[in-house]
Amino acid sequence: MALIVQKFGGTSVANLGKIKAVAQRVLSKHQQGHHVVVVLSAMAGETDRLIDLANQIQNIPAPRELDMLLASGEQVSVALLAMAIKKMGTDAISLTGNQVKIHTDGMHTRARILSIDHELIETHLDQGRVVVVAGFQGVAASGDITTLGRGGSDTTAVALAAALKADRCDIFTDVEGVYTTDPHICASARKIDRISYDEMLELASLGAKVLDIRSVTIAKRHKVPVQVRSTFTDTAGTWIVEEEKAMELNPVSGVTYNRNEARITVSKLPDMPGVASRLLSPIAKAGIVVDMILQNTRDGNLTDLTFTVLKTDYQRAMGIVEKNAQEIGAAGVSGSENICKVSIVGVGMRNHPGVAITMFDALAQEGINIQMISTSEIKISCVIEEKYTELAVRTLHDAFNLT
Ligand code: ADP
Ligand code: ASP
Ligand code: MG
Repeated sequence: MALIVQKFGGTSVANLGKIKAVAQRVLSKHQQGHHVVVVLSAMAGETDRLIDLANQIQNIPAPRELDMLLASGEQVSVALLAMAIKKMGTDAISLTGNQVKIHTDGMHTRARILSIDHELIETHLDQGRVVVVAGFQGVAASGDITTLGRGGSDTTAVALAAALKADRCDIFTDVEGVYTTDPHICASARKIDRISYDEMLELASLGAKVLDIRSVTIAKRHKVPVQVRSTFTDTAGTWIVEEEKAMELNPVSGVTYNRNEARITVSKLPDMPGVASRLLSPIAKAGIVVDMILQNTRDGNLTDLTFTVLKTDYQRAMGIVEKNAQEIGAAGVSGSENICKVSIVGVGMRNHPGVAITMFDALAQEGINIQMISTSEIKISCVIEEKYTELAVRTLHDAFNLT
């Protein structure tokens, strides 16, 4: 008998028919004698609908109230699933993050899980119930409801699996696993059977939204075996596991894209110690996260500095930089919201020389200009014009024989 955490995303519980199908799937595991804890997202589109309602009242709604509102989406889906399971003759109970005691910090709309009480869930499991937990939500020390940020139900599931010492965590979604790239924009994308925690961390952080990055961090830290698989088929999915020798055979495992960033360039800054810090620290103080940073020394005593921020922070960041750059004595500030970061990821990159050149050549042959480059041990990212996103992803997918 195993303890299994099963997470179902929004499209898997989009309507009552799908909720009944999920109930059946959960019951088949329960009837095999396993303990099953289910984590659900809100019904597809519901979180977006609630955010839209809030925005109709205020552009930037109070974060505490937004969390109160958004957490209701998951409360609906867990109650409906528990009812569906009970109707099929098995006892089930739905629980909110607050009831389970998923303790988080107080950062509303992007809270971090600090600890999870496992006693209540274990008591219900021992009494033969299926436990259905609302994903994406927790409770702060103040007693206020918090949410974990978009896509956060994956994190709830893996954190629960770690806290309960579950044998595994199955993430059920609308694709059959983790693919070499987003199957919805590249028809020749291929399902990966096994991928290392580190590669999955890079893929998730570079835009593959199939898993929330924090869920992968927790899985890696607590060695939770995670499987991503389809809600709608019985096909084996993708296992996220520790790195294995065979994984190094291919230089590249996957291609990702991220259209959520914008670029800001400050030109002809004085090239002397402290300038980068003076320019970027007001941005950090405003709570704006900077991703890629590139600095280029010009002839003479001048330098250009380019960096990226989330598109949602672009206007605010621009305002701060324009004011600040003038004080520092820069020649000008420019920027673009029409950019995309395409990346290739693979642990095999470490021992395969020439991977970057293959990437740059492939983009050049399609006439795609590279605006920024950044690399780490197992990834290379290029910022390009947004309109080339699909073309770049498909081109790189072909160039590294991922089909
Ligand atoms: P859920 O609602 O189940 O959490 P998400 O929409 O968050 O599902 O994540 C699944 C989606 O992730 C897929 O429909 C797919 O378009 C997208 N995706 C992006 N990159 C990848 C990838 N490399 N492999 C699989 N899916 C990917
Ligand atoms: N319902 C939340 C969202 O849409 C959390 C999740 O689905 O993981 O982002
Ligand atoms: Mg998701």
